[in-house]
Amino acid sequence: MENASVLLCRYGELFLKSGNRQRFERVLADNIRAAVAGLPEARVESTHGRVLVRVRPADADDAANRLARVFGLVSFSVARKVAVDADLEAMGLAAVEATRAAIAARDPGAAPLTFKVESRRADKRFAVTSLEMSRRIGARVQAETSLPVDVHTPALTIGVEVSANGAFVYAGTRASPGGLPVGVSGRALLLLSGGIDSPVAGWLAAKRGLALDAVYFHSPPYVGEKSRDKVLELGRKLARWQALRSVTVVPFTETQKRLREAGPGELAVVLYRRMMMRIADAIADRLESSALVTGENLGQVASQTVENLATIEAAARHLVLRPLLTYDKVETTALARRIGTYETSILPFDDCCSLFVPSHPATRARVEDAAKAEAKLDIAAEIAATVAASEQIPIA
Ligand code: ATP
Ligand code: MG
Repeated sequence: MENASVLLCRYGELFLKSGNRQRFERVLADNIRAAVAGLPEARVESTHGRVLVRVRPADADDAANRLARVFGLVSFSVARKVAVDADLEAMGLAAVEATRAAIAARDPGAAPLTFKVESRRADKRFAVTSLEMSRRIGARVQAETSLPVDVHTPALTIGVEVSANGAFVYAGTRASPGGLPVGVSGRALLLLSGGIDSPVAGWLAAKRGLALDAVYFHSPPYVGEKSRDKVLELGRKLARWQALRSVTVVPFTETQKRLREAGPGELAVVLYRRMMMRIADAIADRLESSALVTGENLGQVASQTVENLATIEAAARHLVLRPLLTYDKVETTALARRIGTYETSILPFDDCCSLFVPSHPATRARVEDAAKAEAKLDIAAEIAATVAASEQIPIA
């Protein structure tokens, strides 16, 4: 594609060992391909420790917004490609053009720009050293744009990367979320409620390379359709980060009522949660997930004590991951805003765990007490019936 924009994508590599690294690069390139799939003529290629994304110039901004949500990418730059046999003259000209474009794109009120040039030679046949390239191209940019150099904290980093495929020149870099490409760590099942925490927990799990499905326990008519829609909307928000494939909605009302009748009111939340774990286990088996993920957080509400978490976890067969365990609410809320789930999470619709629950839940529920109440139910039948009545909804 002539006249294409090239987005030069960087990923962390320091910690990667050779075997892992190939897999990491393959999954990352696949995920980038999926991220830009809707853009006509988009092409993705791995080369010299970078992933190159070529798109039509008119699609460059759109592509950039998509790449800003791909886990495993650290940063990217919209670059100009200079021909393979290009000399410093051509690279210098491209650097000046890129700098002028960056100057023109700035907000009128922003602080004055400073710059530095950083060079990287993946193709060592190129005769000039990286340092010398930076120096000469920097001198030219300074002469032609009058921008001052600041090698320590430049507002604008102009980059030149020489590879066997050609040289890439850019002005400015945008951050991506980092982490690991979704999928390299396998699959997990997120217990997604309509609250602030569980979507953030899912995002953090996806950031460590886990591909997610979600399960939502729904208790109509006590919990309305709007709560269900809200959870599906949260699912779509997570899918923007390639974090989520589907939401399984589990009808929970009848089981919840039977649990509520089986034990003392103060155990209700723990009994609900233990049953959620068992049903989630069964759904995880179906979806080939190796772990459960929750938004649980130590001490945030009376029911989330170490003792209660242990009693809840004792009902689960799978590993239970709690990415938010040590977060405080301020940190979780800030992250929810950043990833785009906050506005949906604060919509005022009920959650099933507040159903039929007294104001003083047990803070030290013991497995024996929970088990005594559960003995009044046919647990296997409850799991089988709820799983059979559940509905898996694909999230695009
Ligand atoms: P959230 O903000 O995620 O709702 P929370 O701080 O309100 O969390 P709880 O309501 O006690 O805490 O729920 C703890 C965790 O249990 C949730 O983060 C979620 O993973 C899971 N969970 C609770 N209710 C449901 C539900 N109806 N469906 C699926 N998972 C649930
Ligand atoms: Mg909640």
